[in-house]
Amino acid sequence: MKRPLILILLLFKVSVVAGCRSRNESSDAKGFVYTGKTWKDSQHIPICWLNPETAVPEVRDDLKLIIQQQYEGRTGVRFVGWQTCGAEDLTKEVIRVRFSQAPQGTVDGGLTISSAGRSILGPASTAVPGEANATLIIRVKLDWNNYSLESNRWTGRKVFLHEVGHAIGLAHEHQRDDSSCHPQIDGLNPGNVEPITAPGYVKISAYDALSVMNYCNNSYSSSEGIDATISVGDVQAVNYLHDLFSEVAGNAKEIATGADGSVWIIGTDPVGANGDFGIYKWDGSTWQNQGGGAAHIAVAPNGVAWIVNSIGEIFRREGATWAHMPGAGKDIAAGSDGSIYVIGGDSGIYKWDNTTWQNYGGQATNIAGGHNGNPWVVNSEHQIFQLQGSAWVQQPGLANDIATGSDGSVWVTGTDPVGVNGNFGIYKWDGSTWQNQGGSGIKIAVDRNGLLWKISSSNNIFLAKRLF
Ligand SMILES: [Zn+2]
Repeated sequence: MKRPLILILLLFKVSVVAGCRSRNESSDAKGFVYTGKTWKDSQHIPICWLNPETAVPEVRDDLKLIIQQQYEGRTGVRFVGWQTCGAEDLTKEVIRVRFSQAPQGTVDGGLTISSAGRSILGPASTAVPGEANATLIIRVKLDWNNYSLESNRWTGRKVFLHEVGHAIGLAHEHQRDDSSCHPQIDGLNPGNVEPITAPGYVKISAYDALSVMNYCNNSYSSSEGIDATISVGDVQAVNYLHDLFSEVAGNAKEIATGADGSVWIIGTDPVGANGDFGIYKWDGSTWQNQGGGAAHIAVAPNGVAWIVNSIGEIFRREGATWAHMPGAGKDIAAGSDGSIYVIGGDSGIYKWDNTTWQNYGGQATNIAGGHNGNPWVVNSEHQIFQLQGSAWVQQPGLANDIATGSDGSVWVTGTDPVGVNGNFGIYKWDGSTWQNQGGSGIKIAVDRNGLLWKISSSNNIFLAKRLF
């Protein structure tokens, strides 16, 4: 049985504040965003219900849950509130949601609709014109009393994800001027379908056919069968807009952290003629030169740094000097249990036994110390392996860099270029696969607080503002 349902998702932009924001990361993600006005505190975006009595609690809880799972679970933004709007909310920048029901045959802009929403693009204190107090309207041809019907559930979730997407700054993906799809729907407001090149709109990397903001994404023009999710591009676009990282002064080629809270880098100032660079330790506000030069660095949980230089020599920090250690290495890592590993000159994988290096089998180019004595490596084919027992077990995906946190978290920079500057996507291991976290870089480390540090291809250093 054919059950057509046109899902029309309308955007209403009341005011455009033209202007530019400087950004740490350009060409860094996929999507289409409005930068003219963004939430000042993306960790506390207020949202409230204007007429909660219109929707049964199950509906409100379900819509809240989909926002928490998708936007909060996969991007850097956080919402607060979810209560009935108070008088004080009506004059502030708050996402004020009104439930509305579109009876059969409702006409919107000359179009008979089934489901629709409206939202202001970005933060606003003023309502959508003609929609007293509401900055976001979810008008779905639902029988709210039958919300448990799966098709209604999907429809409500999709409309809400789309409209909240607008509220946090996502524009219509199909309105990029390089979009391959321009929906032709009689009666539809041209402002919702025609290409936009106005000031403040930023087209990020490639067109995203899978965006929740894309009318041409068939997953969103049907009420049935497909769960409501945002795309990887949507994740990247939200994180692009909401400044997930802050830039830290200085430049680096590599970064390492210790469970004692120390953070060390290999800088960009050449030391000697072999391709080594200065070694620095973060004092909370600047990088303090530690003498010597190296190519790679690791920091044990007790804060003792280990380095490998460009000719493969291994050194350990002892007091204020570097003590030459046995063996040769191409990369070095420290585990949360204090284990020290190197990738040897023969690309073999070795563990320090306090006297010499014990071969652990396998070959790799890049190593992370892991948790509980289970290091992770990346080989020359970018394949990823974890030591389990005495066997190297391949895990899915491909990586360039790999890092592990003392909290047991595992991170990689992938092999998927983000932008055109040589950066790659950043992923976190969820136990079975890699979840894209938005942002991009070439080198990563996780500090004692679980916060991600990253280095971009331009050698700039960034620290995440929050846990992912
Ligand atoms: Zn829209």
